[in-house]
Amino acid sequence: MALEETQYKMLDELIHWCTRCKLDLNHRVIRVDNGVPKRVLCLTCQSDRVYRPKSLSTRKAAFGKAAALKLAKEDALREKLQSSQRTPKAYSMEGVYKVDDVIDHAIFGRGLATEFISPDKMQIFFDDGMRLLKCGRVER
Ligand SMILES: [Zn+2]
Repeated sequence: MALEETQYKMLDELIHWCTRCKLDLNHRVIRVDNGVPKRVLCLTCQSDRVYRPKSLSTRKAAFGKAAALKLAKEDALREKLQSSQRTPKAYSMEGVYKVDDVIDHAIFGRGLATEFISPDKMQIFFDDGMRLLKCGRVER
């Protein structure tokens, strides 16, 4: 049996994310199984919840980081698209394109070819985000 880092017992207190207060707050262990908390009670608002080993705020921070990275990537692509000197190519499903080509799409507007997912599918960055579109098969 693996050793738990911390053994808890009934009525021990720990810091846990309170979904009602939306804060990391002191909670009291109200159900415990072999030293592992199963249910905790917020000492601030008295609401109880299932114990989660990792606080939601930690997970939110990780998500925030991923979201920030995605935004930074989109900003870079937007910049690249706007500063591109290439003549836009009209989009068609049979059209043959290369990475970094500027695509003129009838509905989505101007986009930048960023990646080929398969020989006939490419990721195009448009102002409102990334889209996967069909294109002509490229021999490479
Ligand atoms: Zn609370």
